[in-house]
Amino acid sequence: MNLNRRGLLLGTAAGLLGCRPEAAALEGGWVGAAHGRGHRLRELKSGALPAPQAQHRAQVLILGAGVSGLAAARGFARAGVSDAQLLELEDQAGGNSRGHQIGGLRCPLGAHYLPLPGEQAPEVVELLEELGLSRLESGRRVYDERHLCHSPQERLFYQGAWVEGLLPPAEGDAATLAQYRRFARLVEQVRTELSFAMPSLRARDSAGRARLDAMPFAQWLQAQGLVDAKLRWYLDYCCRDDYGAGTETVSAWAGLHYFASRHGFHPPGDESEPEPVLTWPEGNAWLTERLAVPQRERLHSGMTVLQVDEQRHQVEVLVWNEKAQRVEQWTAQTVVFALPLFIAARLLRSPLPALHSAAAKMRYAPWLVANLRLREPLLQRIGAAPAWDNVAYAGGATALGYVDASHQGLQPQAGPTVLTAYHALPAAQRGDLLSQPWSAWAGRVMADLRGMHPDLPAKTERVDLMRYGHAMSIPVPGLHTDAALQALSALRGRLRFAHADLAGYSVFEEAFCRGMAVAEKRS
Ligand SMILES: Cc1cc2nc3c(=O)[nH]c(=O)nc-3n(C[C@H](O)[C@H](O)[C@H](O)COP(=O)(O)OP(=O)(O)OC[C@H]3O[C@@H](n4cnc5c(N)ncnc54)[C@H](O)[C@@H]3O)c2cc1C
Repeated sequence: MNLNRRGLLLGTAAGLLGCRPEAAALEGGWVGAAHGRGHRLRELKSGALPAPQAQHRAQVLILGAGVSGLAAARGFARAGVSDAQLLELEDQAGGNSRGHQIGGLRCPLGAHYLPLPGEQAPEVVELLEELGLSRLESGRRVYDERHLCHSPQERLFYQGAWVEGLLPPAEGDAATLAQYRRFARLVEQVRTELSFAMPSLRARDSAGRARLDAMPFAQWLQAQGLVDAKLRWYLDYCCRDDYGAGTETVSAWAGLHYFASRHGFHPPGDESEPEPVLTWPEGNAWLTERLAVPQRERLHSGMTVLQVDEQRHQVEVLVWNEKAQRVEQWTAQTVVFALPLFIAARLLRSPLPALHSAAAKMRYAPWLVANLRLREPLLQRIGAAPAWDNVAYAGGATALGYVDASHQGLQPQAGPTVLTAYHALPAAQRGDLLSQPWSAWAGRVMADLRGMHPDLPAKTERVDLMRYGHAMSIPVPGLHTDAALQALSALRGRLRFAHADLAGYSVFEEAFCRGMAVAEKRS
């Protein structure tokens, strides 16, 4: 499944990286995604589909076993439906929240943390309690310290030294400080005046929210006189990190939702603690692996859905069985699309205007996730101590820094570790992700990290790369309040939609709550 390129000479890359003159073998390859299977969909659909060679029946068929599909299966089980079957293209469930291992060390392939859920996400609170992550003590919710991100959580590489937190320092810089404080006040103002919620489906509709959704975040910031370079860098970083695109591209609603739906914005001098997050060496795969356990008997992996045909009394679904190398037919009373909307639009045989309208508006961000196995810890430079999340101020245009998989470990001695580096790419580079070799992308990742850690190339043993052509939907202006998306979310007939795309952006809570909701009867 994965193309492995062994023995890239780091000496060859040395010219590119301007580092070690001697040649050392760097291993690695592409991991995690069976691109051939997704493309089979195109190949098979361009010709006539072969006749199915096996028939199956299910009461409910869930297409895709990412967070939303697994949550939908959980929702149906709770609603008393014992025959909800899951079809998944990859060999494992989890979608964008899967994990990986290098040399026995676990690391994320995509999602890596979950903020503590608020009262608007009771399903998530309940899940975390069920998984033993939290409990009520004298009426107060307490989380298991082992799974809360250990301190220090974040640091920024700023002008040659590390500083605590990700907000660029503003000491002695009254103008920047004033802008930080002004932005914090504006976040509080919109939070009070408008409705923000996580998941967003729990927010009330309002004209103010629609106005924010109609314009790019950068335009809103400009109109508020928020022009300080450090503030603007930080906000752009937050948007790229959460949404895969910067302040010029995402809506003002999305830019503010990041802060207003959760923890606000904390300027220097604000004494509040940073928002705690749950994280694990393997990232959110810790959650999806546990969500998949009760579905084991009903989870069919290596199954690429090719076509969905809604008929008068049932839905027929054609599937490519990767192991048996044949087309099979499933018949179900209800079908849940828990896969991206652009794929759903290709699969559905009869036209569904809301689906095609919504899919046409979606913009997807390609991402590259690099897992680097280091044989020993990196040398420390001046400033703040190593943190879980480490970011360079004004680093590469696509780079988002890295998290350290061993940060949550309880070993007394630092040893080999895995760093997971993230790049959110412009759509124009989607083709390069497929066409350029692993060595070119590995070189780019290393070159970026070397600015923070000159000793990193010499200590890296292996680089495994995961590429996402369509990692997540970007909340472009107009998407959050789009009528077609809302119509799809409300469907409770034979065809239902559960993917994170329905929120117009992608986080665990959106995928999970929409998945659980799809099992509800007609709304
Ligand atoms: C790099 C990255 C980092 C992220 N970091 C975070 C984070 O730290 N915290 C957070 O909360 N969120 C994060 N997210 C977002 C989070 O991963 C998603 O919100 C969530 O996993 C989406 O779940 P989903 O079920 O909606 O979609 P998906 O994960 O897209 O699941 C869809 C599933 O459908 C399957 N599928 C597709 N086509 C077919 C087909 N034809 N037949 C059968 N199956 C098919 C796919 O293989 C996949 O398993 C991140 C996402 C990425 C890409």
